[in-house]
Formats: sequence, structure tokens, C-alpha cells
Amino acid sequence: MDNQANLLAKEVTTTQNRVWVRIAAACNNICIFCLDSEAQDGKLIPEDQVKSEIRKWFKKGLENRVILSGWEASINPKFPEYIGYAKEIWYDRVQTVTNGNMFAIEKFCTKVFDAGLQEVTFSFHGHTPALHDYLVAVPWAFKKSLKWLIYVKKHYPDVIVNIDIVVNKVNVDYLPDIVKFFMRLWVYEYDILQIIPFWRGFSKYKDVLFYNISEHKESLTKTWELSRVSWMYMWTNRFHVEAFEWFEDLIQDPRKIKSEVMGESVDMFEPFILSKGSKKPECFWERCTYCFLQQYCHSYIDTIDSKKLPIWQSELVISGEEFPSQVIKKYGQNVEEFKSYLKKQNKELINIPKCLWGTGKYQKYNDLKEQVSLQDYTEKYVRNLYKKKSLRCRSCKYDNDCEGIHLNFIRTYGFSLLQPIKS
Ligand code: SF4
Ligand code: SF4
Repeated sequence: MDNQANLLAKEVTTTQNRVWVRIAAACNNICIFCLDSEAQDGKLIPEDQVKSEIRKWFKKGLENRVILSGWEASINPKFPEYIGYAKEIWYDRVQTVTNGNMFAIEKFCTKVFDAGLQEVTFSFHGHTPALHDYLVAVPWAFKKSLKWLIYVKKHYPDVIVNIDIVVNKVNVDYLPDIVKFFMRLWVYEYDILQIIPFWRGFSKYKDVLFYNISEHKESLTKTWELSRVSWMYMWTNRFHVEAFEWFEDLIQDPRKIKSEVMGESVDMFEPFILSKGSKKPECFWERCTYCFLQQYCHSYIDTIDSKKLPIWQSELVISGEEFPSQVIKKYGQNVEEFKSYLKKQNKELINIPKCLWGTGKYQKYNDLKEQVSLQDYTEKYVRNLYKKKSLRCRSCKYDNDCEGIHLNFIRTYGFSLLQPIKS
């Protein structure tokens, strides 16, 4: 499958109704990169709250998947009961994300799989005890979790087993080896998550864990190449998108930003948006360089009350589309068709860079806003304002002023669409 076919296949999957329900605010690992360690109070989420969440988010007529999570969901004694409850409500798929410690107990496996657990995402951050145990800060964690993985694959062949890996400075150069290690155990689905700068991962371990993508491109590229192996499903999360030149189908769906800012973190982002940027999120400033939301937060502050862009009759605004399939329908199957569409417009093009015959002028939030609200800004950011450039753009004479092109054009046609203009 080529990049575009992969992308369109993923588009179908991301239209499923995916419901995340936390059932425990505690964990039995102490991962040094944990992004919400300080938010754990060691308690279990009350039963009525869990059941109401499971009920509330089910959407009739869609393919529904519930992901029972925690911090570590499996330590909640009612975990098997919640699995059964989700099946009663007719969820098509019940999944969990786990560090696997509990799954080392045979009786526990019998209970949860009999209750209807169909998919288990297992967190492994290394392919050796030294690497994994260091990152999760628990001795023997690797050996125990591996034992479970082998046990489940052997005794429950119908259960889908996949792996998530949090990528950081300690393991980034081993990433292709980690994936290959688990491929030898017949695991062919991976969720590769970039470390994010929250809580103790940043406050205590910033220098140990945070890395610059461009300095580790070789190992990242070798990992993305594994996504081309037959039967492989690879997903990525929260990476800066420049990491995916030639592998654009691996770029995370931009709509994921909606759940990041309007989900559990709504209390942080809503005041920020409603105050027109004056009440900054508490993470604002030093952490932003390492955060995949950097453009979302900073361009809001820069453009909320910017001067409006004058649009004359002669100009044509090329806005982004929500899905790559819509880009293809409107602008052409491939990059050549897209370029010929742009070329034949007898108008000045807004939101299009100069290397694609555009004006290099871009709409700002101030040109589009109907009301200042978290939903309005987020929808418009994702649909129209989420623009990106290639790392190669650094050699272009327009680099300083250019904002690139909407992400869905890059996902659909590839970064190679953008060709630096030398002075
Ligand atoms: S970019 Fe936004 S969410 Fe990320 S660290 Fe900065 S203020 Fe926080
Ligand atoms: S190559 Fe990059 S910097 Fe240059 S015009 Fe195109 S998008 Fe802009």
C-alpha cells in the first residue's frame, strides 16, 4: 500500500467512536516520564461514575470501542465487572492499556478475558530489562510483563495484543530494535507516543528524557520504515509532524487536538481562550518548545486580535479540509493534479505558500472567528489554521515569513509538495 492508501484506510478507523474511561487514579509503576503523576491520588474512580461514562459516550449506529484506562486500570478490582458491563451495552470492542503487572497472574487473565476483554495495549519502553525497568522504575517489570505477553498470545489467540512505546532520549536510538524485538513475538500493531513535557517527566527528568527530533532522525526513520512491513499497523501520537517526511501517512489525525484540549484538560484551555490568551496555561513557556501543541497555543496569542487580512474580490482563499479524502475529491488525486489546480486559478491564492504559486498570505483566527470560544478556535485551528512546513524549508529564501500549508495537504500529497526556493 502506498502512503495515500494507508492514510485513507486510517481515516476509516478514526471515524470509529473511541471512548476512553478512567477507572483508577493510581498506578503500580513509577515511570519516570509519566505525564500526569501528580494528578494521581491513589483512589479508584467511583463505580457509578465509571458506569455512567461507559453508558454516556456510546453512540448508536457507529462502531463503538471503549478503552478502560487508568493510570493503571487493571488494579481496580471491578475491572472484570466493567468489561462485562461494556459488553452488555453492546460496545463492539473492549480494550485496555496496561503496564501488564496484573496480567502475570493466571487467574486474573481468565477473569478478564472471560468477561469479554478483546484487546490489550501493553506498554513496553525497551527491549531489555535494563532499558524498560529503568524507565518504569520498577525492578523485574520487563521480565514479568514479557511473561504475560507470551502467555496471552499462547492461550488467548483471539485477543488482539499491541504495544505502546513512549519515545524519549533514553530509548529513541533503540526504537527500531524495540519494535523488531516484539515483531519476533508476532506483535504487529504499535502506538508510538512522543514524550510530552508535563509533570515529573519534565520537572525532574527534563535533561534525561527530552530530545531533539532532528538529531535522532535516523532511528526514527528506521522505525517508520517498519510500518511498511506486511501486516503492520503503526500509529503515532503527539510528535512534531516534521518527523514524518516520506512517511506522511503516519502523521496523527489533526482532529486529535480536539480531544486533547476539550477533554480532560478543558479547565486549563477554556480560561486561556476566553481570556484572549491573558490567562496562560500553567505549563506555558519553557515546556512549549517540547510540546506538540506549541503552534496551537502560541498562534492563538499572536493572532487573536491581529489586523484583519484584506480580502479583495480577486483573491481566492484555499481553506483546509477535514479529511484527506475531501482534499483528494476537491483538489486531485496526486500532487501533480493539485499543482495544476493551483496553477490554473486566475486569482491570487491565500493560505498557499510562494513555492506553490501562492501569495504567502495566510488567514489568522481574527479573520475567521465568529465568537471567542474554545470550540470555535479549536475547530478553526484544526480545519484552517494548522499549517506546517518541511525541515527542508530552512533553506528557502521565504522561510522566515512563510507559514507553509495546511496539514491535510501535507498528509495527502506529502512534504515533497513544498520545494524551497533558493535565493
Ligand atoms: S504549548 Fe500550550 S499546552 Fe503545550 S506546554 Fe505550552 S502552553 Fe502548555
Ligand atoms: S519551501 Fe517552505 S518556506 Fe519556501 S515557500 Fe514553500 S513552504 Fe514556504
